Amino acid sequence: GDSQESNATGNNTSAPLPKGVVLDKDGKPCRTCTSMSSWRALTKQAKSDPSTSTNTTTTSTAALAAPATPSPSEIPSDCPPDVEALGRSTWTLLHSMAATYPERADTKQQEDMGGFLKLFAKLYPCWVCADDFQTWMAHPSGRNKPKLGGRSEFGWWMCEAHNEVNRKLGKKEFDCRFWEERWRSGWKD
Ligand code: FAD
Repeated sequence: GDSQESNATGNNTSAPLPKGVVLDKDGKPCRTCTSMSSWRALTKQAKSDPSTSTNTTTTSTAALAAPATPSPSEIPSDCPPDVEALGRSTWTLLHSMAATYPERADTKQQEDMGGFLKLFAKLYPCWVCADDFQTWMAHPSGRNKPKLGGRSEFGWWMCEAHNEVNRKLGKKEFDCRFWEERWRSGWKD
């Protein structure tokens, strides 16, 4: 079932939200926008003082019942994804789409991929991520427009898109010369 039930109307009277908790546009905590560690802090807060809780009740019972708190990056495999698990899976999909893109794409193939990316950037289930990604793609100079002529330029573009998010999050940038080894051919021994 849905593990993100809500029972309150807002966060007006409650303790401040733990760091990193992102609210949805309807004011409820957004699980797919929030890391597991922040989510746990939120559910802990809600449990310790339910009267002033934010409008979340629980994560899954499996997560709460765990005797020892797993490290923040470990989410039980049958629980909904946090922002990081969702991101990792999505990058796998996106880079794999680039890795299997035609070496030279015809007009229809380019249109299809362009349409996919546009909708993807609109529908990605972490809204803050989606908003930023759309803004980046739509840079007025046109410099971040998807490059869809063929696999090589599309793979490079995807790598740059990913690096943009890496920079925003303070992560290390990936050297895009190696995108194909990482996502298509595998590393040479
Ligand atoms: P990931 O960044 O998920 O990368 C997975 C693997 O890809 C890495 O282990 C590495 O081998 C490889 N890799 C890394 N960089 C590149 C690259 N440039 N090119 C090719 N391969 C690479 N999270 C937020 O908290 N806030 C956001 O606003 C946000 N926006 C996102 C927007 C999009 C479109 C997507 C798909 C994800 C977003 N995320 C966001 C999630 C974030 O990018 C990471 O997926 C998440 O933090 C987990 O990071 P990670 O360190 O496990 O590796």
